Amino acid sequence: MRALSKNGDAVRFSDFYFDNENGDRPMTRITRLSSVATTILIAFAACAPLAGRAASDSTDPGTHVYTLGTQGGPFPSVQRAEPSNALVVNGAIYLIDAGNGVARQLVIAGLDFRKVNQIFITHNHDDHNADWGTLMGLQWSVGRRTPVEVHGPIGTESMLGGFLQYFAPNVQVRSADTNMPVPPSQVFRAKDILGPGVIYQDANVKVTAAENCHFHFNPKSAGDNPEKSYAFRFETKDKVVVFSGDTGACGDAIVKISKDADILVHEVASLPLVEAALRAYMPSQASSAAEAQFQGLMRHMEADHSTPEEVGRVAAAAGVKRVVLTHFVPGRDNESDSAYVDGVRKFFKGPVTAAHDGMEF
Ligand SMILES: [Zn+2]
Ligand SMILES: [Zn+2]
Repeated sequence: MRALSKNGDAVRFSDFYFDNENGDRPMTRITRLSSVATTILIAFAACAPLAGRAASDSTDPGTHVYTLGTQGGPFPSVQRAEPSNALVVNGAIYLIDAGNGVARQLVIAGLDFRKVNQIFITHNHDDHNADWGTLMGLQWSVGRRTPVEVHGPIGTESMLGGFLQYFAPNVQVRSADTNMPVPPSQVFRAKDILGPGVIYQDANVKVTAAENCHFHFNPKSAGDNPEKSYAFRFETKDKVVVFSGDTGACGDAIVKISKDADILVHEVASLPLVEAALRAYMPSQASSAAEAQFQGLMRHMEADHSTPEEVGRVAAAAGVKRVVLTHFVPGRDNESDSAYVDGVRKFFKGPVTAAHDGMEF
């Protein structure tokens, strides 16, 4: 059976499937740029956006960071996908968060979605955890037989149980007309992170988790709520890369885990832009209930997320070499980068980039 790729090349349908257990055959890539993508390429050329590059294979040696989705929070936007990052080390792909649409964001970045073996979830807000299950599902549906593992806060293992149930009808349909020799239960793995410390290690990376300051549960639910939110430090042979996860000001917790990192990938929220966006989305502030809801959301943004100035202070205190801002809140279309970057630069004198989807660092 043959199919046409988007750039017109005939490809065998079987090219989309693994030839062996390791999935070594790279999938056919779409490299032709649309005029829109070309425009984006020119706009962000300084930071090597991937959408416009000839698809460099993920087998390049060394450590590479890809910002796959840079939106913060569950409001979809046109220009930013839901949160996700990839760390590629000697060709191995490690995923950090898996927001909605992550499989497509991997493909856009030129990365083979089938080759993701390890997934790390910072916390169980749905903008971060929505699609690790569907990524695993798509891998299985195109023939993956070797395990893929997700590491996330308590709740991740039970999510996998739910996903297997959700996925079961697809398994039935595909197994009825295609040879699917390995059931998903043997491919999909989940491991709850039980606390801070080293949570994973292999030949490429050592991953350390630290609790950050994203959750401030109200006293009524705090007592029996086991949910945690984490920052991750990835140490490889040539780089240290830290992902802050979602966090508010956090004492020295983020400073400590970011100490001397080569790259700090940090979330950011602009309170003036948040206020403007909330006012635009919630125009009827006339009622006291609406005003109370607005004030509650602003409190959440102030306590549970980081202003540019807070990011700058953390980066300077930790002595990191570079800051990459992501998870933009509100992250509405056509915001200026300077609304986020300028505040960081008041305190941090190294390079700061407001990431967009598909950039490589
Ligand atoms: Zn988030
Ligand atoms: Zn969150």
